[in-house]
Amino acid sequence: MSNHATSPAKTDPAGTRSVPRRVVVVGGVAGGMSAATRLRRLDEEVEITVVERSGHVSYANCGLPYYVGGVIEEEDDLLLQTPERLFDRFRLGVEVDSEVVGIDPVAHTVTVRSTLDGRERVRTYDRLILSPGALPVRPPIPGFDRVRSLRTVEDAARLAADVAARPRSAVVIGGGFIGLETAENLAHAGVAVTVVEAADQILTPLDPELAVLVAAELIANGVAVETGVAVTEVTGDSVRLADGREIAADLVVGAIGVRPDTRLAEMAGLAIGPRGGIAVDSVGRTSDPHIYAVGDAVEKADAVEGGTSLVALANIANRQGRRAADHIAGLEVRATASLGTAIVKVFSRVVAMTGANEKRLRAAGRDYRCVRSHPMNHAGYYPGAEQMAIKLCFAAADGTILGAQAVGGSGVDKRIDVLATAMAAGIPAARLADLELAYAPPFSSAKDPVNMLGYMAENVLAGECDVVEPPEVEVLVAEGWTLLDVRTPSEHNAGAIAGSINAPLDTLRDDLAALGAGPFLVFCEVGQRGHTATSLLHELGIPARNLDGGWRTWVAYEAARRHDPARLVAGAAAAPGAKIG
Ligand SMILES: Cc1cc2nc3c(=O)[nH]c(=O)nc-3n(C[C@H](O)[C@H](O)[C@H](O)COP(=O)(O)OP(=O)(O)OC[C@H]3O[C@@H](n4cnc5c(N)ncnc54)[C@H](O)[C@@H]3O)c2cc1C
Repeated sequence: MSNHATSPAKTDPAGTRSVPRRVVVVGGVAGGMSAATRLRRLDEEVEITVVERSGHVSYANCGLPYYVGGVIEEEDDLLLQTPERLFDRFRLGVEVDSEVVGIDPVAHTVTVRSTLDGRERVRTYDRLILSPGALPVRPPIPGFDRVRSLRTVEDAARLAADVAARPRSAVVIGGGFIGLETAENLAHAGVAVTVVEAADQILTPLDPELAVLVAAELIANGVAVETGVAVTEVTGDSVRLADGREIAADLVVGAIGVRPDTRLAEMAGLAIGPRGGIAVDSVGRTSDPHIYAVGDAVEKADAVEGGTSLVALANIANRQGRRAADHIAGLEVRATASLGTAIVKVFSRVVAMTGANEKRLRAAGRDYRCVRSHPMNHAGYYPGAEQMAIKLCFAAADGTILGAQAVGGSGVDKRIDVLATAMAAGIPAARLADLELAYAPPFSSAKDPVNMLGYMAENVLAGECDVVEPPEVEVLVAEGWTLLDVRTPSEHNAGAIAGSINAPLDTLRDDLAALGAGPFLVFCEVGQRGHTATSLLHELGIPARNLDGGWRTWVAYEAARRHDPARLVAGAAAAPGAKIG
């Protein structure tokens, strides 16, 4: 029996049957295997059967792109467990090459079909846990049948074999996480890659001015990026685009996104939620109290917007698997909601995010504010400092953090994880200023980038800092505001907003008489000197506002607006005298 520290009550959560003796789990990877192993730790007596359609359980699907590119060299390194080891350690009955093809919710049975010989058998359950994951979206485009997907070890092996045949060119359809990881790995293997994304930007969980930085990184590494254009046909050696162009492609990979695999749930008559995932309650129960569902297949409570969302991430699947097991074992389970915290490496860039982006907040009609910053990951004087772009969005009324996103190098992961933790703990934006975070020059600055976001939010919420968002610039200039660049002349000459005049911060007091009465729309490199200049002008009674994130944000915003990430690739934007408007 259980040896759990909290001595779980061995009562039946459904209230209709005795304590479960037989549990069947469908899907033997993230959610399913977490549920099975957790349940074993809570209950030595229950009979647990895990049914898995593919030939492997507990495989590292997150590592698949790196196997395709040869970064992970051995297929075996992707296999975290074998059925034999799972039996030895956990006494799990693991049935691979076995697909659950039917559920009888009245008789409490599942029909399992061998994928090797087609033979069927029936398994009885007291509780059933569904963790079938998601299905790759495969649109009805002519020729799409020759497009590779990347979801299983078998998919990765096929793709790795394709790469071994030395294709010259590849098109990756879809600029999401998996598409970009695949593109990087194909490029790493020496293939000329084009990413085609139908949306206006890659990585749609980011706002455009951050996503464009990632597109620039792809371009800088030789990967072509086509956004705002759909693939209309896949031919033998190319893909055709909606604008009539044709791109050579010896290999085509589809990473358009995934949708919850609800086929079994629908067959069993379980409720499906408004977003098309299996509907579950806060403990993971479906509309049938004897059937639980977890992972990519289910709708999750959305931490920012309320309601539900579809988030396909490993952490959530693992957590939900564990919670379903807890509930089956009679433990109390806390309700949780998902932030969608995610991270991806794109060549030398680290891209991470949590909560909602500005696009979503705007679409939802939320009253929010955002601050943007470009801090170094650690003290600038310590060798190897890298700059990141980081954006924080929070509620205008009370500073509740609504989301954050960052693109940079090392240290991006830490900042987004701290912000995700702050969100989970309900710490408002201004209080980020008070967090005591570890500091020594090789790791951070005395004012960590997260603290800095807190200071900025504090200023905005207290009305001490009147910031202008990039889209407002054009409007203000048309209304007669003077663009005032408070950087040094050499910075100004290397590139500035068209029509701006230059008055460096350090001599601003002396230059004021020549500048006129304003109003001034102030900017500097990242927003910090601009803030000081704006405060000075305010003190002198001169109307002034500061451009949030400064020139760096402006350049990215313009590149995104013009769908032209190439202008951010080293040298393009910083050409001496360039006036980017
Ligand atoms: C290439 C790739 C990279 C990823 N990278 C990351 C990452 O870096 N970070 C991150 O957080 N997430 C990542 N993910 C997503 C993450 O892997 C998923 O969110 C997570 O695995 C979902 O767990 P799950 O248990 O719901 O489904 P899965 O882990 O997909 O497992 C579902 C299993 O169920 C089996 N199955 C389905 N139907 C049946 C049936 N009828 N009978 C028997 N078996 C069945 C399937 O064969 C499959 O093995 C990645 C996914 C992929 C594909």
